[in-house]
Amino acid sequence: MTARIIDGKALAERVRGEIAEHAARLAQRGEQPCLAVLLVGADPASAVYVRNKVAGCEKAGIRSLRFDYPGDVAPAVVMAKLAELNADPSVHGILVQLPLPPQFDEAAVLEAISVDKDVDGFHAENVGRLSQNQEAFIPCTPHGVIKMLEAEHVPLAGAEAVVVGRSNIVGKPMAMLLTNAGATVTVCHSRTRDLAFHTRRADILVAAIGKPRFLTGDLIKPGAVVIDVGINRLTEGPDAGKLCGDVDFDSAVQVASAITPVPGGVGPMTITMLLENTVISAARALRRKEAE
Ligand code: NDP
Repeated sequence: MTARIIDGKALAERVRGEIAEHAARLAQRGEQPCLAVLLVGADPASAVYVRNKVAGCEKAGIRSLRFDYPGDVAPAVVMAKLAELNADPSVHGILVQLPLPPQFDEAAVLEAISVDKDVDGFHAENVGRLSQNQEAFIPCTPHGVIKMLEAEHVPLAGAEAVVVGRSNIVGKPMAMLLTNAGATVTVCHSRTRDLAFHTRRADILVAAIGKPRFLTGDLIKPGAVVIDVGINRLTEGPDAGKLCGDVDFDSAVQVASAITPVPGGVGPMTITMLLENTVISAARALRRKEAE
Protein backbone atom coordinates (compact mmCIF):
# COMPACT_ATOMS: atom_id res chain seq x y z
CA MET A 1 0.00 0.00 0.00
CA THR A 2 1.28 3.47 -0.73
CA ALA A 3 0.07 6.56 1.07
CA ARG A 4 -2.40 9.12 -0.24
CA ILE A 5 -0.51 12.31 -1.13
CA ILE A 6 -2.01 15.33 0.59
CA ASP A 7 -2.11 18.14 -1.97
CA GLY A 8 -1.32 21.32 -0.05
CA LYS A 9 -1.14 23.37 -3.21
CA ALA A 10 -4.70 22.55 -4.25
CA LEU A 11 -6.05 23.20 -0.75
CA ALA A 12 -4.12 26.47 -0.54
CA GLU A 13 -5.59 27.62 -3.86
CA ARG A 14 -9.12 26.83 -2.71
CA VAL A 15 -8.67 28.64 0.60
CA ARG A 16 -6.97 31.60 -1.10
CA GLY A 17 -10.01 31.93 -3.37
CA GLU A 18 -12.24 32.27 -0.29
CA ILE A 19 -9.80 34.77 1.26
CA ALA A 20 -9.84 36.88 -1.93
CA GLU A 21 -13.65 36.98 -1.85
CA HIS A 22 -13.60 38.04 1.80
CA ALA A 23 -10.95 40.70 1.07
CA ALA A 24 -13.04 42.08 -1.80
CA ARG A 25 -16.15 42.30 0.42
CA LEU A 26 -14.16 44.19 3.07
CA ALA A 27 -12.70 46.55 0.46
CA GLN A 28 -16.22 47.29 -0.79
CA ARG A 29 -17.11 48.32 2.73
CA GLY A 30 -14.11 50.68 2.85
CA GLU A 31 -11.70 48.41 4.73
CA GLN A 32 -9.15 47.07 2.30
CA PRO A 33 -7.00 44.53 4.15
CA CYS A 34 -3.36 45.63 4.35
CA LEU A 35 -0.23 43.77 5.46
CA ALA A 36 3.08 45.49 6.27
CA VAL A 37 6.20 43.35 5.88
CA LEU A 38 9.60 44.36 7.27
CA LEU A 39 12.78 42.71 6.03
CA VAL A 40 16.15 43.39 7.65
CA GLY A 41 19.34 42.30 5.88
CA ALA A 42 19.98 40.33 2.72
CA ASP A 43 19.42 36.69 3.73
CA PRO A 44 18.43 35.08 0.39
CA ALA A 45 15.89 32.66 1.92
CA SER A 46 14.20 35.51 3.84
CA ALA A 47 14.08 37.59 0.65
CA VAL A 48 12.29 34.73 -1.15
CA TYR A 49 9.78 34.30 1.71
CA VAL A 50 9.03 38.05 1.74
CA ARG A 51 8.64 38.14 -2.04
CA ASN A 52 6.20 35.22 -1.89
CA LYS A 53 4.21 36.84 0.92
CA VAL A 54 3.90 40.12 -0.98
CA ALA A 55 2.93 38.28 -4.18
CA GLY A 56 0.35 36.24 -2.22
CA CYS A 57 -1.19 39.48 -0.92
CA GLU A 58 -1.42 40.96 -4.39
CA LYS A 59 -3.22 37.91 -5.78
CA ALA A 60 -5.72 37.91 -2.91
CA GLY A 61 -6.53 41.64 -3.21
CA ILE A 62 -4.68 42.48 -0.01
CA ARG A 63 -2.64 45.69 -0.07
CA SER A 64 0.96 45.16 1.02
CA LEU A 65 3.60 47.55 2.27
CA ARG A 66 7.20 46.44 2.21
CA PHE A 67 10.02 47.99 4.21
CA ASP A 68 13.61 46.86 3.58
CA TYR A 69 16.50 47.72 5.88
CA PRO A 70 20.23 47.03 5.59
CA GLY A 71 21.61 44.31 7.88
CA ASP A 72 23.39 46.86 10.08
CA VAL A 73 20.33 49.06 10.70
CA ALA A 74 19.92 50.37 14.24
CA PRO A 75 17.08 48.53 16.04
CA ALA A 76 15.58 51.91 17.03
CA VAL A 77 14.85 52.63 13.35
CA VAL A 78 12.83 49.42 13.01
CA MET A 79 11.11 49.98 16.37
CA ALA A 80 10.07 53.49 15.24
CA LYS A 81 8.55 52.05 12.05
CA LEU A 82 6.65 49.46 14.09
CA ALA A 83 5.23 52.21 16.31
CA GLU A 84 4.12 54.11 13.21
CA LEU A 85 2.49 51.03 11.67
CA ASN A 86 0.80 50.11 14.98
CA ALA A 87 -0.82 53.55 14.99
CA ASP A 88 -1.89 53.48 11.33
CA PRO A 89 -5.54 52.37 11.12
CA SER A 90 -5.20 51.39 7.45
CA VAL A 91 -2.65 48.67 8.38
CA HIS A 92 -4.15 45.40 9.68
CA GLY A 93 -1.17 43.08 9.82
CA ILE A 94 2.50 43.62 10.65
CA LEU A 95 5.16 41.01 10.07
CA VAL A 96 8.89 41.19 10.77
CA GLN A 97 10.68 38.51 8.79
CA LEU A 98 12.84 36.32 11.03
CA PRO A 99 15.66 35.73 11.72
CA LEU A 100 16.92 39.20 12.63
CA PRO A 101 20.62 40.21 12.74
CA PRO A 102 22.42 39.89 16.10
CA GLN A 103 22.03 43.54 17.17
CA PHE A 104 18.28 42.89 17.58
CA ASP A 105 16.51 41.45 20.60
CA GLU A 106 14.06 39.31 18.64
CA ALA A 107 11.60 38.89 21.51
CA ALA A 108 11.52 42.67 22.07
CA VAL A 109 10.75 43.26 18.39
CA LEU A 110 7.91 40.74 18.43
CA GLU A 111 6.52 42.35 21.61
CA ALA A 112 6.59 45.75 19.90
CA ILE A 113 4.02 44.65 17.33
CA SER A 114 0.45 45.46 18.36
CA VAL A 115 -1.30 42.27 19.53
CA ASP A 116 -4.21 43.18 17.23
CA LYS A 117 -1.89 43.28 14.18
CA ASP A 118 0.34 40.34 15.06
CA VAL A 119 -0.70 38.18 12.09
CA ASP A 120 2.30 35.85 12.58
CA GLY A 121 0.98 35.02 16.05
CA PHE A 122 4.43 35.30 17.68
CA HIS A 123 3.60 38.00 20.27
CA ALA A 124 3.76 36.53 23.80
CA GLU A 125 0.15 37.56 24.42
CA ASN A 126 -1.08 35.67 21.36
CA VAL A 127 1.02 32.66 22.37
CA GLY A 128 -0.55 32.81 25.84
CA ARG A 129 -4.03 33.12 24.39
CA LEU A 130 -3.42 30.10 22.15
CA SER A 131 -2.17 28.08 25.13
CA GLN A 132 -5.41 28.95 26.94
CA ASN A 133 -7.46 28.01 23.85
CA GLN A 134 -8.75 31.57 23.56
CA GLU A 135 -9.25 33.49 20.31
CA ALA A 136 -5.78 34.46 19.05
CA PHE A 137 -3.73 34.93 15.94
CA ILE A 138 -2.35 31.46 15.39
CA PRO A 139 1.15 30.97 13.92
CA CYS A 140 0.69 30.33 10.22
CA THR A 141 2.58 27.08 9.64
CA PRO A 142 0.96 25.00 12.41
CA HIS A 143 -2.40 26.60 11.65
CA GLY A 144 -1.99 25.49 8.03
CA VAL A 145 -1.23 21.96 9.21
CA ILE A 146 -4.44 21.82 11.25
CA LYS A 147 -6.41 23.09 8.22
CA MET A 148 -4.89 20.32 6.13
CA LEU A 149 -5.71 17.64 8.69
CA GLU A 150 -9.28 18.93 8.89
CA ALA A 151 -9.62 19.04 5.11
CA GLU A 152 -8.39 15.43 5.00
CA HIS A 153 -10.92 14.46 7.70
CA VAL A 154 -8.16 13.10 9.94
CA PRO A 155 -9.68 12.51 13.38
CA LEU A 156 -7.75 14.57 15.93
CA ALA A 157 -9.66 13.92 19.17
CA GLY A 158 -8.11 10.92 20.88
CA ALA A 159 -5.36 10.52 18.28
CA GLU A 160 -1.75 9.91 19.35
CA ALA A 161 0.10 12.85 17.83
CA VAL A 162 3.88 13.19 17.90
CA VAL A 163 5.54 16.47 16.98
CA VAL A 164 9.28 16.31 16.32
CA GLY A 165 10.64 19.83 16.94
CA ARG A 166 9.94 22.33 19.71
CA SER A 167 10.60 25.71 18.07
CA ASN A 168 8.46 28.69 18.98
CA ILE A 169 7.28 29.12 15.40
CA VAL A 170 6.36 25.53 14.53
CA GLY A 171 6.79 22.73 17.07
CA LYS A 172 5.38 24.32 20.23
CA PRO A 173 2.32 26.01 18.68
CA MET A 174 1.69 22.80 16.68
CA ALA A 175 1.62 20.83 19.94
CA MET A 176 -0.75 23.36 21.50
CA LEU A 177 -3.14 23.28 18.55
CA LEU A 178 -3.22 19.49 18.52
CA THR A 179 -3.78 19.47 22.29
CA ASN A 180 -6.63 21.97 21.91
CA ALA A 181 -8.12 19.68 19.24
CA GLY A 182 -8.14 16.74 21.67
CA ALA A 183 -5.10 14.79 20.52
CA THR A 184 -2.71 13.16 22.99
CA VAL A 185 0.50 14.98 22.14
CA THR A 186 4.16 14.08 22.59
CA VAL A 187 6.81 16.66 21.70
CA CYS A 188 10.22 15.30 20.72
CA HIS A 189 13.47 17.21 20.19
CA SER A 190 17.22 16.77 20.03
CA ARG A 191 17.37 15.67 23.69
CA THR A 192 14.69 13.00 23.31
CA ARG A 193 16.17 9.69 24.46
CA ASP A 194 14.46 7.20 22.16
CA LEU A 195 12.94 9.05 19.22
CA ALA A 196 11.89 5.88 17.39
CA PHE A 197 9.87 4.68 20.41
CA HIS A 198 7.76 7.83 20.18
CA THR A 199 7.46 8.23 16.42
CA ARG A 200 6.40 4.58 15.99
CA ARG A 201 3.40 5.20 18.25
CA ALA A 202 2.13 8.20 16.29
CA ASP A 203 -1.19 8.15 14.48
CA ILE A 204 -0.26 11.68 13.36
CA LEU A 205 3.44 12.46 12.97
CA VAL A 206 4.54 16.05 12.39
CA ALA A 207 8.18 16.62 11.42
CA ALA A 208 9.60 20.13 12.03
CA ILE A 209 13.27 19.38 12.49
CA GLY A 210 15.28 21.06 9.72
CA LYS A 211 17.19 17.88 8.80
CA PRO A 212 16.79 16.53 5.27
CA ARG A 213 15.04 13.13 4.99
CA PHE A 214 15.65 12.51 8.69
CA LEU A 215 12.51 10.48 9.51
CA THR A 216 12.63 7.25 7.54
CA GLY A 217 9.82 4.77 6.94
CA ASP A 218 11.03 2.40 9.69
CA LEU A 219 10.30 5.13 12.26
CA ILE A 220 6.68 5.45 11.16
CA LYS A 221 3.66 3.48 12.37
CA PRO A 222 1.90 1.70 9.50
CA GLY A 223 -1.16 3.75 8.50
CA ALA A 224 0.04 6.97 10.17
CA VAL A 225 -0.69 10.41 8.74
CA VAL A 226 2.66 12.11 8.15
CA ILE A 227 2.97 15.89 7.94
CA ASP A 228 6.37 17.11 6.76
CA VAL A 229 6.98 20.75 7.68
CA GLY A 230 10.67 20.68 6.76
CA ILE A 231 12.06 22.66 3.86
CA ASN A 232 15.68 21.78 3.16
CA ARG A 233 17.84 22.32 0.11
CA LEU A 234 20.02 19.29 -0.61
CA THR A 235 23.67 20.19 -1.05
CA GLU A 236 25.07 16.85 -2.17
CA GLY A 237 24.18 13.60 -3.92
CA PRO A 238 22.20 13.07 -7.12
CA ASP A 239 19.41 15.44 -5.96
CA ALA A 240 21.76 18.34 -5.06
CA GLY A 241 19.98 21.67 -5.42
CA LYS A 242 16.51 20.14 -4.94
CA LEU A 243 14.18 20.86 -2.03
CA CYS A 244 13.24 18.09 0.35
CA GLY A 245 11.49 17.70 3.67
CA ASP A 246 12.46 16.30 7.06
CA VAL A 247 10.84 13.00 6.10
CA ASP A 248 12.39 10.47 3.76
CA PHE A 249 9.43 10.54 1.38
CA ASP A 250 10.29 7.42 -0.63
CA SER A 251 10.38 5.08 2.38
CA ALA A 252 7.63 6.89 4.34
CA VAL A 253 5.13 6.74 1.48
CA GLN A 254 5.28 2.91 1.66
CA VAL A 255 4.19 2.89 5.32
CA ALA A 256 1.95 5.92 5.95
CA SER A 257 -1.73 6.18 5.01
CA ALA A 258 -1.36 9.84 3.99
CA ILE A 259 1.64 12.14 3.62
CA THR A 260 2.43 15.70 2.59
CA PRO A 261 5.04 16.15 -0.15
CA VAL A 262 7.84 18.75 -0.17
CA PRO A 263 7.41 20.99 -2.04
CA GLY A 264 3.63 21.26 -2.46
CA GLY A 265 2.54 20.24 1.04
CA VAL A 266 2.67 22.43 4.12
CA GLY A 267 4.58 25.28 2.42
CA PRO A 268 1.71 26.72 0.34
CA MET A 269 -0.60 26.63 3.38
CA THR A 270 1.72 28.80 5.48
CA ILE A 271 1.33 31.96 3.40
CA THR A 272 -2.35 31.17 2.95
CA MET A 273 -2.87 31.36 6.71
CA LEU A 274 -0.94 34.64 6.84
CA LEU A 275 -3.36 36.08 4.28
CA GLU A 276 -6.30 34.68 6.26
CA ASN A 277 -5.03 36.27 9.49
CA THR A 278 -4.67 39.63 7.72
CA VAL A 279 -8.22 39.49 6.40
CA ILE A 280 -9.54 38.43 9.83
CA SER A 281 -7.70 41.40 11.35
CA ALA A 282 -9.26 43.77 8.80
CA ALA A 283 -12.73 42.34 9.51
CA ARG A 284 -12.19 42.92 13.25
CA ALA A 285 -11.03 46.49 12.59
CA LEU A 286 -14.17 47.16 10.55
CA ARG A 287 -16.37 45.69 13.31
CA ARG A 288 -14.66 47.93 15.87
CA LYS A 289 -15.20 51.01 13.67
CA GLU A 290 -18.85 50.14 13.07
CA ALA A 291 -19.39 49.66 16.81
CA GLU A 292 -18.04 53.15 17.56
P1 NDP B 1 14.37 24.98 14.43
O1 NDP B 1 15.76 24.74 14.00
O2 NDP B 1 14.04 26.21 15.18
O3 NDP B 1 13.88 23.73 15.32
C1 NDP B 1 14.22 22.42 14.97
C2 NDP B 1 13.74 21.48 16.06
O4 NDP B 1 14.12 20.16 15.69
C3 NDP B 1 14.37 21.77 17.42
O5 NDP B 1 13.39 21.73 18.43
C4 NDP B 1 15.39 20.66 17.58
O6 NDP B 1 15.60 20.25 18.93
C5 NDP B 1 14.74 19.54 16.80
N1 NDP B 1 15.77 18.60 16.37
C6 NDP B 1 16.94 18.86 15.76
N2 NDP B 1 17.64 17.73 15.57
C7 NDP B 1 16.89 16.73 16.08
C8 NDP B 1 17.08 15.34 16.19
N3 NDP B 1 18.20 14.74 15.75
N4 NDP B 1 16.11 14.60 16.77
C9 NDP B 1 14.99 15.19 17.23
N5 NDP B 1 14.75 16.52 17.15
C10 NDP B 1 15.70 17.27 16.58
O7 NDP B 1 13.50 24.84 13.12
P2 NDP B 1 12.01 25.38 12.77
O8 NDP B 1 11.03 24.83 13.72
O9 NDP B 1 12.06 26.82 12.52
O10 NDP B 1 11.82 24.68 11.34
C11 NDP B 1 11.81 23.27 11.19
C12 NDP B 1 11.78 22.94 9.71
O11 NDP B 1 10.58 23.45 9.15
C13 NDP B 1 12.90 23.56 8.88
O12 NDP B 1 13.23 22.66 7.83
C14 NDP B 1 12.29 24.81 8.29
O13 NDP B 1 12.89 25.20 7.08
C15 NDP B 1 10.88 24.33 8.06
N6 NDP B 1 9.87 25.40 8.07
C16 NDP B 1 8.92 25.33 7.10
C17 NDP B 1 7.91 26.25 7.05
C18 NDP B 1 6.88 26.09 5.99
O14 NDP B 1 6.24 27.05 5.63
N7 NDP B 1 6.64 24.88 5.50
C19 NDP B 1 7.83 27.37 7.99
C20 NDP B 1 8.83 27.31 9.04
C21 NDP B 1 9.82 26.35 9.05
P3 NDP B 1 16.22 21.24 20.05
O15 NDP B 1 15.12 22.20 20.41
O16 NDP B 1 16.56 20.32 21.16
O17 NDP B 1 17.40 21.91 19.42
